[in-house]
Amino acid sequence: MTLTWMTIYLLVDSILVSVYGKSTHRMEIRGMSDSKNCFKCGELKPLSMFYKHKQMKDGRVNKCKECNKADVSGNYRANIYHYKKYEKSRATLSHRVKARADYTKTDEGKAAGSKAKKAWRERNAVKNGASIIVGNAVRDGRLIKPDYCESCRNKPNRLHGHHDNYAFALQVRWLCPGCHTKWHKENGPGINGESTLNLSDGTLTNE
Ligand SMILES: [Zn+2]
Ligand SMILES: [Zn+2]
Ligand SMILES: [Zn+2]
Repeated sequence: MTLTWMTIYLLVDSILVSVYGKSTHRMEIRGMSDSKNCFKCGELKPLSMFYKHKQMKDGRVNKCKECNKADVSGNYRANIYHYKKYEKSRATLSHRVKARADYTKTDEGKAAGSKAKKAWRERNAVKNGASIIVGNAVRDGRLIKPDYCESCRNKPNRLHGHHDNYAFALQVRWLCPGCHTKWHKENGPGINGESTLNLSDGTLTNE
């Protein structure tokens, strides 16, 4: 059982009732002004458990800090999902696809493209490093690239060298684009996939 403020209050009150033979009405009134019920979880909590807000009558919001925190993190996760979905649906609108294709052909577009690629490589130094190592190893015959996807066994035009752990650049599984996307959807970015490479000492940092 979790002790809510209400139960603590009622417990104290019932002790006082048994000692003094009556409910301490004064305390009840005082108790109400020092505390209030959160409109979300309904618990009676001291005012210090509510964030300050100038425009509220008692100077505090009506939702307790705990509920507020839960809402904020919940919203953030929900928003990220919707935001990404929205951006994706916008990006695939046909006129946008065409506008982007046209733009990439201009000098400005080409410059922006290579700038973005360079920025990605810097941001994803670990992933980029692993992919260079794989490319060189395939070229030199130290790593054999099959002609089929190791997951679905189909033979696609393109195979991706996928890393479960980017720290082991030569431990690659060859996946078709579909299986590759699916893997990351189910398993996330891959171990060390979101780490950054410290260029001065070559260490990986996970943020
Ligand atoms: Zn609450
Ligand atoms: Zn596949
Ligand atoms: Zn991968």
